[in-house]
Amino acid sequence: MVATNDMAGPVRIGQLLRFFLLLPVFLLVLAQCTEAPPSEVARSDWQLHGHDSREQRFSPLSEINDNTVGRLGLLWSLDLPGENALEATPIAVDGMIYFSGQFGKVYAVNAVAGEIAWEYDPQANSKVLPSTPRLYGAHRGVAYWDGKIYVATKDCRMIAINAKTGKELWTTNFLVPGTNATSSGAPRIFKGKVIIGNSGAERNARGYVTTMDARTGKILWRFFTVPGNPDVDTDETTSIASETWSGEWWKYGGGGTPWNGITYDEELDQIYIGTGNAGPYHYPGRLDGSKDNLFTASVVALDPDTGKYKWHYQYNPLEVWDWKATADIILADLTIKGEKRKVLMQAPSNGFFYVIDRTDGKLLSAEKIGKANWADRIDLKTGRPIERPGIRYETEPAIIYPSAAGAHNWQASSYNPQTGLVYIPYMQIGMKFWRTPEAAARVKDVRSGGLTGVGVNMDFHVDPDDPLDGKGSLLAWDPVAQKLKWRVDYPAMWNAGTMTTAGNLVFQGTHTGQFNAFDARTGEKLWSFYAGLGILAPPITFEVKGIQYISLLVGYGAGGGEGSEYLNKGWKYGLQPRRLLTFALGGTARLPQTPAPDKSVQFVDDPAIKLSSEAIRRGEISYHMMCTACHGAGAIATGGAPDLRGAGAMRDKAVLTAVLREGLLVENGMPRFGNISDSEINNIFQYVRSRAREAIADQE
Ligand code: CA
Repeated sequence: MVATNDMAGPVRIGQLLRFFLLLPVFLLVLAQCTEAPPSEVARSDWQLHGHDSREQRFSPLSEINDNTVGRLGLLWSLDLPGENALEATPIAVDGMIYFSGQFGKVYAVNAVAGEIAWEYDPQANSKVLPSTPRLYGAHRGVAYWDGKIYVATKDCRMIAINAKTGKELWTTNFLVPGTNATSSGAPRIFKGKVIIGNSGAERNARGYVTTMDARTGKILWRFFTVPGNPDVDTDETTSIASETWSGEWWKYGGGGTPWNGITYDEELDQIYIGTGNAGPYHYPGRLDGSKDNLFTASVVALDPDTGKYKWHYQYNPLEVWDWKATADIILADLTIKGEKRKVLMQAPSNGFFYVIDRTDGKLLSAEKIGKANWADRIDLKTGRPIERPGIRYETEPAIIYPSAAGAHNWQASSYNPQTGLVYIPYMQIGMKFWRTPEAAARVKDVRSGGLTGVGVNMDFHVDPDDPLDGKGSLLAWDPVAQKLKWRVDYPAMWNAGTMTTAGNLVFQGTHTGQFNAFDARTGEKLWSFYAGLGILAPPITFEVKGIQYISLLVGYGAGGGEGSEYLNKGWKYGLQPRRLLTFALGGTARLPQTPAPDKSVQFVDDPAIKLSSEAIRRGEISYHMMCTACHGAGAIATGGAPDLRGAGAMRDKAVLTAVLREGLLVENGMPRFGNISDSEINNIFQYVRSRAREAIADQE
């Protein structure tokens, strides 16, 4: 289907004959393959984030297939010192692999030899403004276009880099002052432009995407996903969406941060933005009037040249559960009820799988992919969910499935047009939400350097009688029938994204460190490799000089600290080496020695330190606003950062002060909290000391 060079030369009789002989086959293939091929992408490369502009993560390569995969082996591994959580989809172009590590550090690696050609460190963690809230350094990838690599750094700079030399070509700052945003996503490329969203809904950010000229870095247009202050702001979203909000939302940011899924539709020439949850989840006046709060938890279609709004579909009106539409948005042509439809497909957080007509945003179908107790169904006429009562925990605590982590999060789904199935990394766990005046009061700390709350209390909920609760699965979902075709259940939740190929294979890494290949039609496990460390990132495949390769980043460490026991499988910060692995048929390399999973912590304490219950109480609140995303809920680390109960720096308040205020460990990834007060430092110190003391007492 893709034009090759031998069609461009002078046509000889033999070629003509061959053409006519092959014509029926061609037509047959055309009839089966209803999709227009994406342009400008070599079938041998993995050039765009989702392989090609449809973001199906489907590779037409098939040397590695359901018959040969048994011979797949490790070709080389590359240790990446200083890295922790690795979430990026690598890009493979012309025999080179490009990817990002923590905070947006960029690597270029020779795909066959496994040698680093260049590294580019934007020093993003040390350049983050003291007033800007931060989260862990996880980063989801770079983009490639016309000999350039594009990276959006944690501190919101877009940097274009010469792909050959690693030299910086231009830098554009895309942080709107005062919006409290960070960036963790992979830029997308379309029509000579580069687009990026932002992150930080839990830190009072206002969501937006920024589009730049890919040659020069000039900002061309920006689209805000939530309105600003209607008395001040004049952007399109403020004028069309303000009436869908209540209270003084602009003081709290509003959220809707589009931190991952963005897909450009070549056929219809429009771009789809997947928006994040509303933030904070609760604040005074937010629920008044039960308004929809556009465009949170939505897909928004924009004009790619102007950034003007075209249409939207909102999954969750008045979103209050940290549910987002930030999963990758997959484009396909499906035959539904005998009619060919141009659709986009997404499994957002809320536990349903949606098929949407991408010509106009109309919902075609939506069904539950797993446990979802908040709605009976989605009304196809109105496109709105038929919600169950009490789900916004107005007066009573509510146990909601799925949890804030989602039935599906950012971990990529893939779609195989040959099997007609979507492969979804699914999680099953509930969440208890409840309000208290204390939680509500925390949102008053808005825009004070990360000291913000979400306005509610939350805790993971597991039903002891449901063996699948707290665990994850790979689902093979039929998007036309809206039915499960097959599933593979895993011992842990928070597994990696998927990739599928014309070799009838689906690949996926797991939380427990297995890299698996399944028969795409049946789900039979055909191959597995133990990577020595939990896997978060999706694999890619590409071809160099006729040989097919598969590459995968291995680096566990993020995923939010909430719900420690479900996320802690012994992958420790700084213990197991983080790596790039590459596989090929006949590969015989072995992984270097890798420490086994280890959940133990050497708790440290100084009995001379006097603890105050009031400081501990306040410290617990500050800890869970500032520290928990990396260091874990209850000060129990899950691999994102060191366990503070065993950290030497936490035994000495002066050292802790230097770490927090002066940024003593910025190089290691520990952010600087420039404007934290002495009493806050003391409270956090006291809380962590108390947690270490309790842990030591439990051991005795
Ligand atoms: Ca969120």
